[in-house]
Amino acid sequence: MERSLYEKRGKIVIKKTETLFLRPGWCISRLGMNHSFPARASFQHRPKDECGVFAVYGHPQAAEITFFGLYALQHRGQESAGIVVSGDKDRKFKSHHGMGLVSQIFNEHQLSKLPGTRSIGHVRYSTTGSSTLENAQPIVADCSRGQIAVGHNGNLVNAHVLRDELEADGAIFKTTVDSEVILHLMAQPSNHTGDSSLVQALCKVKGAFSLVLLSEREIIGVRDSLGFRPLCIGQVDGAWLLSSETCAFDIIPGAKFVRDVEPGEIVVIDENGLRSIKPFVEKERTGFCIFEYVYFARPDSTLEGVNVSAVRTNMGRELARLHPVEADLVIPVPDSGNYAALGFSEESGIPYDHAFVRNHYVGRTFLNPSQLAREFGVRVKLNIIKERVAGKRVVVVDDSIVRGTTARARVMNLRKAGAKEVHIRISCPPHRFPCHYGIDFPDPKDLIANLYSHEEITKYLQADSLGYLDAAGMVRATGRGENKFCMACFNGKYPVAVNPELDKLVFERRRERAESLVFAEETAPRLFNGKI
Ligand code: SF4
Repeated sequence: MERSLYEKRGKIVIKKTETLFLRPGWCISRLGMNHSFPARASFQHRPKDECGVFAVYGHPQAAEITFFGLYALQHRGQESAGIVVSGDKDRKFKSHHGMGLVSQIFNEHQLSKLPGTRSIGHVRYSTTGSSTLENAQPIVADCSRGQIAVGHNGNLVNAHVLRDELEADGAIFKTTVDSEVILHLMAQPSNHTGDSSLVQALCKVKGAFSLVLLSEREIIGVRDSLGFRPLCIGQVDGAWLLSSETCAFDIIPGAKFVRDVEPGEIVVIDENGLRSIKPFVEKERTGFCIFEYVYFARPDSTLEGVNVSAVRTNMGRELARLHPVEADLVIPVPDSGNYAALGFSEESGIPYDHAFVRNHYVGRTFLNPSQLAREFGVRVKLNIIKERVAGKRVVVVDDSIVRGTTARARVMNLRKAGAKEVHIRISCPPHRFPCHYGIDFPDPKDLIANLYSHEEITKYLQADSLGYLDAAGMVRATGRGENKFCMACFNGKYPVAVNPELDKLVFERRRERAESLVFAEETAPRLFNGKI
C-alpha cells in the first residue's frame, strides 16, 4: 500500500532510514539514536526536575537562539536534549538529539547543520519513560498533515489508556514517553466537529502539559487548562520566542518577555504573527505547580507575574514567624534554600551566612547505595566550612526533605564541624504524596513525612528542632490565592484524577506482554496466493 494511503488513515510514518511500513501501523523515529544512559541511582534524595521547552519563530539563527534558551533551562532537565529546525524555503525538518547536558550535545558544528528560521528545543528529565536516547525530545513525526515535532513539559495521566486504544488500531510506538501519544492523536483523521487536529488531540489527553510544537507552517505553544507547568512568550529582533521560564529571555541579547501563555490557551505563531485560541471551557480554578516557586524554577524567573526569588524570600519570612528559634546563624542549603534563608534571617534578625559550599561539577552518582557512597554523595556535593559553624547554634534552611537520609547526614556533618545546635527549617509543608504531573518524587513508601511523625523525623535527623512552613504560609508567600495552585504532593488533593498505580516505567512494562508473532497451533496448510 502506498505511503500516502497509510497517512490518510491517520498513521505516522517513520522518518529517514528506519522507514517501516507495517499494516496498518506506523512509528516514529529518533533518527538513528540507539544508546542508553546509565540507570539512575536508586537513592534519590530530592524531587527531580521535569523538562524545559523553548521555541523560536522567524529568526535566521533559530537553532542558535534555541541552544541559548535550552542552556538557561538546563536546571529543568539534564538527561537529554534536542533541537528540531525548519526553514522558510526548505521545510524539511532537521534535528539533533543527545544524552547529557546541552553544552555536551551541541557545538558550533552541530548547530551549523541546523539551518532554519523556526525551531523548537527540549531538555529532559524523564518522568514517564526511561532515560534513553530514543526517548529524547522533541519527538519528530511524519503524517498526512506533514512533519510535526513536539516538546512536552508535564505528564499525561491517561497516556497509557490512549496508547492502548491507538495500538489496538495498529499504531506502532517508537518511544516509551507519554508525549508520543499527542502526535498519534493529531495524525488521526478529522472527526467532523470542525476542530483542528491539535484541538481534537488535546481534548483527549488529561494531565499536565506545556507544549511547543513545530509544523511546516508555524510554531505553537499550549498550556493545559489548569496550567500546571509554566510557558511564556517573548520576542527578539521581531522574532517570537516561547520558553518554560523567563530566565531564558534574559540571556538572549535584545530579548524581552511579552506575557505568559494562559492556562488553556493555544498560541499559534506563523507568518501573520501571533494569534490566541482558547478552545476549552475555562475552569474556575487553576493548578499551577506551587513547587515551581519552592524549588524547581530558577530564582531569576518570573512565573505568573511573580518573581521566584521574591516568593522564596517571603517563604523564609513566613517560616521565621511560624517557627522562631534562638540561634546565632542562618545558613541556606544552596542553591534553592538561599532566598528562603535570606527571608528567615531578615525576619528573625539572626545573621545570614554561607557555610555549605556546593560543587557545581558533580553530576548524578551512579554508585550502589552503600553507606560509604551515601556519605560521599552528601559531602562531594555540599561541603561544610567548619570555621563558619564551630561553636554556633545554626538554623539550616532547605526547600524539602524527601527521604531524610541527606538531611540527616548534613546534620551529623554540622555537628562534626563543631555546631552547638542544629535547627532545621523547611520552606514548604511535608511531602507526603507523589506527583503525577511531571515531577519525579520517590515512591511514597520512601517519603519520610509519609512514614513518620514530626517527632520521629526530628529524632531521626538528630536535629535540635524541625519546622516546616504550613500550606497557608506557602500560599501567602506567593501573593496569590490557594485556588490558583496544585498542592497535591502536600495535601493529596489531585486536581486531575490520577491512577496511583502508575509510575514512570508504565510503558516499559508493557513489553512484558509481548507474544509470539505465530500461533503455536498454526500448523495446518493455508492457501497462499491461491495455491497450497
Ligand atoms: S503534585 Fe506537587 S510537584 Fe506535582 S504539580 Fe502538584 S504541587 Fe507540583
